[in-house]
Amino acid sequence: MVNFRFDAVQRATAKEPIEAIAPSRETSDYYGCNVFNRAAMRKYLDADTRRTIYETIERGATLDTTVSEYVAAGMKRWAIDHGVTHYTHWFQPLTGGTAEKHDSFADPRARDESIEKFSGKLLCQQEPDASSFPSGGLRNTFEARGYTAWDPSSPAFIIGDTLCIPTVFVSYAGEALDYKTPLLKSDAAVTRAASELLTLMGMPGEVTHSYLGWEQEYFLVDKDLYSQRPDLVLTDRTLIGHVSSKNQQLEDHYFGSIPARVMEFMRDLEFECYKLGIPVKTRHNEVAPGQYEIAPVYETSNLAIDHNLLLMSVMKSVADKHSFAVLLHEKPYAGVNGSGKHCNWSIGTESGIGLFSPGKTDSENLRFLCFMANTLKAVYDNNALLKASVMTASNSHRLGANEAPPAIISSFLGTQVHAAFEELLKSKDMVKIAGKKGYSLGIPQIPELIVDNTDRNRTSPFAFTGNRFEFRAVGSSANCSGPITILNTLLAYQLEQFIAVVKKRVKAGEDPLRAILDETRETYRSCQAICFDGNGYSEEWKIEAKKRGLDCESSVPVCMDAYTTKQTVKIFETEKVLTKVELESRKEVFLEIYCKRISIEAKTLGDLVTNHVIPVAIRYQNILLENVKNLKEIYGEKEFKKYAASQLDLIKCISEDISAAESEIDRLDVLVEKIEANGEGRAAAVQYHDKVVPMLENIRTHVDSLELMVDDQMWPLPKYRELLFIH
Ligand code: ADP
Ligand code: MG
Repeated sequence: MVNFRFDAVQRATAKEPIEAIAPSRETSDYYGCNVFNRAAMRKYLDADTRRTIYETIERGATLDTTVSEYVAAGMKRWAIDHGVTHYTHWFQPLTGGTAEKHDSFADPRARDESIEKFSGKLLCQQEPDASSFPSGGLRNTFEARGYTAWDPSSPAFIIGDTLCIPTVFVSYAGEALDYKTPLLKSDAAVTRAASELLTLMGMPGEVTHSYLGWEQEYFLVDKDLYSQRPDLVLTDRTLIGHVSSKNQQLEDHYFGSIPARVMEFMRDLEFECYKLGIPVKTRHNEVAPGQYEIAPVYETSNLAIDHNLLLMSVMKSVADKHSFAVLLHEKPYAGVNGSGKHCNWSIGTESGIGLFSPGKTDSENLRFLCFMANTLKAVYDNNALLKASVMTASNSHRLGANEAPPAIISSFLGTQVHAAFEELLKSKDMVKIAGKKGYSLGIPQIPELIVDNTDRNRTSPFAFTGNRFEFRAVGSSANCSGPITILNTLLAYQLEQFIAVVKKRVKAGEDPLRAILDETRETYRSCQAICFDGNGYSEEWKIEAKKRGLDCESSVPVCMDAYTTKQTVKIFETEKVLTKVELESRKEVFLEIYCKRISIEAKTLGDLVTNHVIPVAIRYQNILLENVKNLKEIYGEKEFKKYAASQLDLIKCISEDISAAESEIDRLDVLVEKIEANGEGRAAAVQYHDKVVPMLENIRTHVDSLELMVDDQMWPLPKYRELLFIH
């Protein structure tokens, strides 16, 4: 049974009845019941095997084949006890989402008593015929081999009748073909560097990790209406549609009460998440009508990312059961807020110390300022690359519009941390950081409010929020691994530069803490230009950012250049996260995806305009023409104009829009064909960006103008006001 891109989640959960147990039972009764977690391991693995696998999960120790046989046997037993018949290696190709290839446990050739086969080898490694996945030239078709290899640090889980095993996906020569491989390597790199710096600070033996708490925004739309919009079905966004007279002006949707139908969906979604051990915690309405958010408690990056991908898949199937479609596109509707996925990122120790958390003592605060300064420097030196990590065809609609971070990376620190750094620049010694403050509202029954030591700035793409950085430019449909891998790697490299200088000073006889303090000050001094606390949406900022040397490019294909600069290659090769060849292949894949997406949009728009909109507009134009002719017949040449003036005007406007849209579509067809003939590399992507995207916008204005003129009853597509408001 080989079935790629088959969405197990959709199939499996669609069959299941909606169980009503969530409200009536405690979460702890079913939390993680579909995960091969420690509780399951205690039941299905012997103590020695457990000890070894825990060591692998926690310390990355390599599993030997005998142990993996025991794990496979226990995992299989557990899965079969849960009614599972199939297993799949679950991986994250660069096309986005996740991919699976299902194999049955049953092996008809087996002569044993039990015909369910699942060996340690099958658990650890598989070779899917994955030639259809993009590799950016890493594999020629004649060596299309790709291997998936088990990632024991993310637990296996059950979806419907299938056991899903999280894996990395690499080529025959070991090059990364997925998002997970470099993420794991980047976590190891930052762990190495951060632990070394902590040792220099007098904290030896600390193991660190990167942590991630994502906030997933999404839109819901009624499934029937969705299926009547070919643009939503094929491109995940509306290519045409006039804004509704009411959308989000009143801001009455944000944190407003959640409609009952949506609430039922959310409850069901949370129930499914809990069974899979996804620690979702927060749910609320977002700014736009029909827009919502779900967020979990943060976890180690690897786990958080697997959980986010799983959530995006589960959401679709749960929405389907509730007759909704879920839209994860960054900008499904023009003129209405888009969706992002804020990535709350931090580095912390296993013993619970957040390295971006200010403390109470001077040494804790030195540690805090040191990790902060290094992070700011890493982001400053590589701001173009960090931006490239979130730049996609769909997210580019959002970045730079006045609703999401601008397409310029800067960091907001908040008044108190900013003040501490400013003070440090002037002082030779350690500075104080203002802590949380309490104040009384003067209402006796309300206790004192404790206010955080950071205020907020919604326009900042990379904002410090008390104990973490919140990277807000990430798109709602993205795999967070892209940006998190880059953040981890950049920080690891910067820390290593920092450590080298400190070590040199220590060798020359200086006190390590003094050297760290001095270097923290100088590191911050050299990257102050990344800090910006003002309005990121303003025109003045664009001018100022350019002066500061920050990257202001907003063209997606051009932004991709950052993946292969000398500096990027040096950093990624030094940290052993990605090689030059892998970086080049990634860039190629991203450009290819960009070309494909815009090309699909162009073709879909062509079809919509030619086959849906124009025939209807012509029909309405004819009704008006008929009406004018009739008026003329009744009132005669002289008098009829008095009554037909507005119709004549309307006919003129409609005719103009029809002919403009038609001729633009013809030009678009010719252009796309010409670009396609030249492949899907950088040159083609630039053409799509510079020429095709503006044409799509232009055609849209004519169609949207027709929507306002043509009889509402005749209009062939559901309108924004119907799509956006859920009752
Ligand atoms: P917001 O106020 O930005 O909407 P939320 O409470 O919705 O914040 O989400 C914040 C996210 O940040 C949550 O997933 C939370 O677990 C996560 N978070 C909190 N502390 C940290 C940390 N130290 N490192 C990473 N993520 C964190
Ligand atoms: Mg947030």
